[in-house]
Amino acid sequence: MKEILTGIADLIFPPRCAACDDLLKRHDPLPFCPSCLNGIHFIRSPLCPRCGIPFPAAEGEDHLCGDCLTMESPYAVARSVGRYEETLLTAIHRFKYRGKTGIGEMLGGIMADFAGGIWDMEAFERIVPVPLHRKRLRERGFNQAVILAQKLSKRFDIPLDFTSLQREVFTPPQVGLGREARSANVHGVFAVRHPERIAGRRILLVDDVFTTGSTLAECARVLIRARAEAVAVLTLARAVYDQGKEPDG
Ligand SMILES: [Zn+2]
Ligand SMILES: [Zn+2]
Repeated sequence: MKEILTGIADLIFPPRCAACDDLLKRHDPLPFCPSCLNGIHFIRSPLCPRCGIPFPAAEGEDHLCGDCLTMESPYAVARSVGRYEETLLTAIHRFKYRGKTGIGEMLGGIMADFAGGIWDMEAFERIVPVPLHRKRLRERGFNQAVILAQKLSKRFDIPLDFTSLQREVFTPPQVGLGREARSANVHGVFAVRHPERIAGRRILLVDDVFTTGSTLAECARVLIRARAEAVAVLTLARAVYDQGKEPDG
């Protein structure tokens, strides 16, 4: 019965590629056509086991990156599915800036597949999406991180908490800012409203893109200050640039 219903739904709303809108074939395993699938650059070892940045070498062991060797990070681990370029960048833009929330749900499914493959998800007790300021939420109509986090919450049956962590200060978009400016820009922006829901819990912090990591680090710092036991970070995409150089977006 379920198959018949899916079949009918496919006739009315045929599945389309999340990046280029081409019709998909039944056997396309991910919501992308073969050519867009080629444009997804999955992040693989060798990478930094703490912050997840991939190294340019094609082979070799994972090892701490320069930043993680010299700086304390408030999160225990951060991982991203793929690089923030080509197909993932296009799909995220269509989701976030053109309001295609259905694409967000598909992308959340990809994050869930990925997270289930690398982590024991039972270790997490709460999923917390990076919050938007209410002004930005009004403009956009939805928080992209909540849509992604919802998918993870459902798949692994982990409670979703999108009210405890709040963005209390409105900040301009981070695009075009370097790492130092980004850190300064997010300092003091977040607060935990219900520390009793966070205290003693292992938290999975979720967002769409890891750029310099400033926002995610600040959120993790605030959660740890509210006595979270540990924070892990999961994003769909990661901007990869040389450490020490400025990000370009
Ligand atoms: Zn496509
Ligand atoms: Zn690192």
